[in-house]
Amino acid sequence: MIDIKNVSKWYGSFQVLNNCTTNIQKGEVVVVCGPSGSGKSTLIKTVNALEPFQQGEIVVDGISLSDPKTDLPKLRARCGMVFQNFELFPHLSVTENLTLAQIKVLKRSKAEAIEHGLKYLDRVGLLAHKDKFPGQLSGGQQQRVAIARALSMDPIVMLFDEPTSALDPEMVGEVLDVMMQLAQEGMTMMCVTHEMGFARKVAHRVIFMDVGGKILEDCSKDEFFGNPDARQARTKDFLNKIL
Ligand code: ATP
Ligand code: MG
Repeated sequence: MIDIKNVSKWYGSFQVLNNCTTNIQKGEVVVVCGPSGSGKSTLIKTVNALEPFQQGEIVVDGISLSDPKTDLPKLRARCGMVFQNFELFPHLSVTENLTLAQIKVLKRSKAEAIEHGLKYLDRVGLLAHKDKFPGQLSGGQQQRVAIARALSMDPIVMLFDEPTSALDPEMVGEVLDVMMQLAQEGMTMMCVTHEMGFARKVAHRVIFMDVGGKILEDCSKDEFFGNPDARQARTKDFLNKIL
């Protein structure tokens, strides 16, 4: 489904991704973790072509990002992305947030977009808030709207970049619950997160990135958590700090 092959990226002379290779199968949940500055956000953003890269290749659902014929906005529309800071449009109501891209990018009619958007708003438990503005919602509620908005585009994969790290602790659970439900329904997911409880429960694989943009570990969840002696020293250090 997603094939990342020998991807490298530099900002000037600073290498932010170093020969990264991994792949994500349909229905697979992959957690990406690692220290600050290791390139996790950059890696996940290369997948939906929000970040260009200088070397290597990424193929999403059979379509190469580097092929000049590829319609990048169209491909991006099929990769749902959820960020740390929700990134809802503050001046639009919840319903308008849910429908804007469906109408503009997928060319759905307004009625169709509303029906579709509200279906997902209901799934994240927020139908009663459809006419509110983002500023009237809690952080956890805003993040659930952001997830519903991404799902409204019928994505083939959901990309999460630390979706709970800006939330007050009491709101983390409600967002993780929605993500776990999605995982259990078979959604293909790539999640940058340090929520190791989530990783243990629903991840199939864990990728650990180290400073310098290197993928240091890429193994099954059971290997990652169950076989510490087989992990690299850097990974053990990191796990000791966050577990
Ligand atoms: P965090 O856990 O803090 O979110 P991260 O693993 O997501 O970190 P990235 O945001 O991908 O890391 O950044 C990787 C490295 O690239 C960092 O050292 C960062 O300072 C650098 N970087 C990111 N964006 C730019 C940019 N536009 N120009 C130059 N350097 C950048
Ligand atoms: Mg980041």
